[in-house]
Amino acid sequence: MQRQGFIDRLKAIVGDDYVIAHPEDLLVYEYDGSVDRAMPRAVVLPASAGEVSRTLALAYQEGVPVVGRGSGTGLSGGALAPPGGIQIAFTRMNRILEVDTENRTATIEPGVINLDLDNHVRKFGMRYAPDPSSQKACSLGGNIAENAGGPHCLAYGATTNHVLALEVALEDGTMVNLGGPAREVPGYDLRGVFVGSEGTFGIATQITVRLLPLPETVKTFLGIFPDIESACSAVSAVIGHGIVPAALEMIDALSIRAVQQVTDAGYPEDAGAVLLIELEGLWEEVDEVSREVESALWETGAGEVRVAEEDRERERLWLGRKTAFGAFGAIAPNYYLVDGVVPRTRLSQVLRKVSEVSEKYGIIIANVFHAGDGNLHPCMLFDGREPGVTERAMAGAAELMEYCVAVGGTLSGEHGIGLEKKQFMPLVFTDADLAVMRRTRDAFAPANRLNPGKIFPDDDGFYQIVPQPTPPPGDTGMYV
Ligand SMILES: Cc1cc2nc3c(=O)[nH]c(=O)nc-3n(C[C@H](O)[C@H](O)[C@H](O)COP(=O)(O)OP(=O)(O)OC[C@H]3O[C@@H](n4cnc5c(N)ncnc54)[C@H](O)[C@@H]3O)c2cc1C
Repeated sequence: MQRQGFIDRLKAIVGDDYVIAHPEDLLVYEYDGSVDRAMPRAVVLPASAGEVSRTLALAYQEGVPVVGRGSGTGLSGGALAPPGGIQIAFTRMNRILEVDTENRTATIEPGVINLDLDNHVRKFGMRYAPDPSSQKACSLGGNIAENAGGPHCLAYGATTNHVLALEVALEDGTMVNLGGPAREVPGYDLRGVFVGSEGTFGIATQITVRLLPLPETVKTFLGIFPDIESACSAVSAVIGHGIVPAALEMIDALSIRAVQQVTDAGYPEDAGAVLLIELEGLWEEVDEVSREVESALWETGAGEVRVAEEDRERERLWLGRKTAFGAFGAIAPNYYLVDGVVPRTRLSQVLRKVSEVSEKYGIIIANVFHAGDGNLHPCMLFDGREPGVTERAMAGAAELMEYCVAVGGTLSGEHGIGLEKKQFMPLVFTDADLAVMRRTRDAFAPANRLNPGKIFPDDDGFYQIVPQPTPPPGDTGMYV
């Protein structure tokens, strides 16, 4: 079949204006914040589940692989199209269809932005708890595919704990429903299997999520430490007191200075590290636990402990945390984020390894991460125009991934495996483990037409992991 014929048939499904096929327009879709780039053959922007289904059916008939694309913030190459493949982007499917205040659920289309949902339901005294640091930009469809976490997932659990039902289009366009609005659903938990499947099982076209009531009281602490070691001890001490804060985030010295250069979040620039700790609940409960948190911080060497009780103060502290990755642009034009998980008690040890890797490969590394979950994010900062530096960053990242696993951790806390971590899968899974995963994928997508080439190390009919040269300045598109 001629290329134009296929594009015309896509246009017949979604309308002429909603198929992007011009190479310059497609540049926007070649990247998801990782180091890999891949230009899709076309991007389709459907307006409904029916259009998604018909697009998939056509692509299936023509043997064209398909990748869903939310906001392209995934950082692991997950949303990149395989050669000859098309992307389905959900920019137009961004409606909040229903908020059921009595049953505390919301039903939405996959292109709804995480923060837009949360802001909307707050008007009804509720919240959507999973709050990735990219929540201003990332979509609920992407969150489902990656089982996204976020600062408040320490207490409330990641995306999978908040998804009740999914309407899904399979690779050949067949529509299925997984889960249901009731708390318990008989049969296999296919909803649970789908969440975190990185777009390889199907395309989510409608999502029903659980909402939580807004807490009566919220209190945020900024623990200021002279060095990162004492801040790590404080993490263990807080959890060791039997406290599960709503959030427990670490920001190191380099990140503090980067943040303060672009916005005044109130972080002291001479600190070695700060911890952002949030407590939520009934007033009496928060008041009692606050005292324990404060004593844990003082006991482990905090130089100062600040408490924010007013919304504005709290928002300012969180603004620093949530804009940190963008602030790294003040240090270097490129970043490569390592997403690993380690036992909380190993945080100091692994952060020492991060410093060693920084020195060995000559790459600056900043650390901002979900400390309560042991989910590290060493962020390698470099100028990709320097010959060989991207390869050095990748080699350093590989050494860190291996170290995380060696100390009892794992590969990805939240960004998924995608392209960038698939070669590390044998570090944590046996051949038999991977075979079961593959058979599960085959039950949903036997022709492997959805997001092929991702997750499995030997599923490389479409890709090789080759870091792409960085484009000239002004074209990096890196900042989120
Ligand atoms: C600055 C920054 C901070 C971040 N912080 C966090 C964080 O705190 N926690 C966290 O978990 N992640 C974080 N991330 C990573 C990223 O934002 C999340 O993984 C997010 O869930 C991706 O959403 P997206 O809409 O951008 O998805 P995309 O990047 O567009 O896609 C991600 C995957 O989802 C698939 N997909 C998209 N839509 C659908 C759909 N409707 N059906 C099926 N599959 C689909 C794609 O095919 C791809 O495999 C951060 C990223 C950045 C840049």
